[in-house]
Amino acid sequence: MATERTFIAIKPDGVQRGLVGEILGRFERKGFKLVGLKQLTPSRSLVEEHYGVHRERPFFAGLVDFLSSGPVVAMVWEGDGVIASARKLIGATKPLEAEPGTIRGDLAVNIGRNVIHGSDAAETAEFEIGLWFQAAELSSWTPADQGWRTES
Ligand code: UDP
Repeated sequence: MATERTFIAIKPDGVQRGLVGEILGRFERKGFKLVGLKQLTPSRSLVEEHYGVHRERPFFAGLVDFLSSGPVVAMVWEGDGVIASARKLIGATKPLEAEPGTIRGDLAVNIGRNVIHGSDAAETAEFEIGLWFQAAELSSWTPADQGWRTES
């Protein structure tokens, strides 16, 4: 399994509801490595670019209003298979269909307030990391307990 990086964002509902520590903890406890972290209120144009694939969808305007309405915690996490694994930790887009134990399954009810975003593939992860972060904002580092996380 290749080491990858993925883009994760706690949406304004997650920040406003005080869920940042809970969500960060789930990724930390899983064993992934945090390589970038910042809080910002994104511009409408940043959100429009991020969700460009949904531009023609009826929920697009509301989604842009929502994401640009308040602070977002933007993160980059690194690890073996982190892109697909983060999507599993996050759970289904519709929180009522998300399995208990997942972030959306445990912490959300409404699709328009589903707390968190995670890249869905290698190409989107690369695009989203470049959109939200400068290269100098990302750290390459080795956790002190690396040998206890992975065999090699
Ligand atoms: N969304 C929404 N209404 C919908 C579908 C999607 O508000 O009917 C929002 C929701 O916040 C979702 C985001 O648009 O997380 C992106 O949708 P996507 O299908 O890419 O889901 P995700 O990758 O976030 O699970």
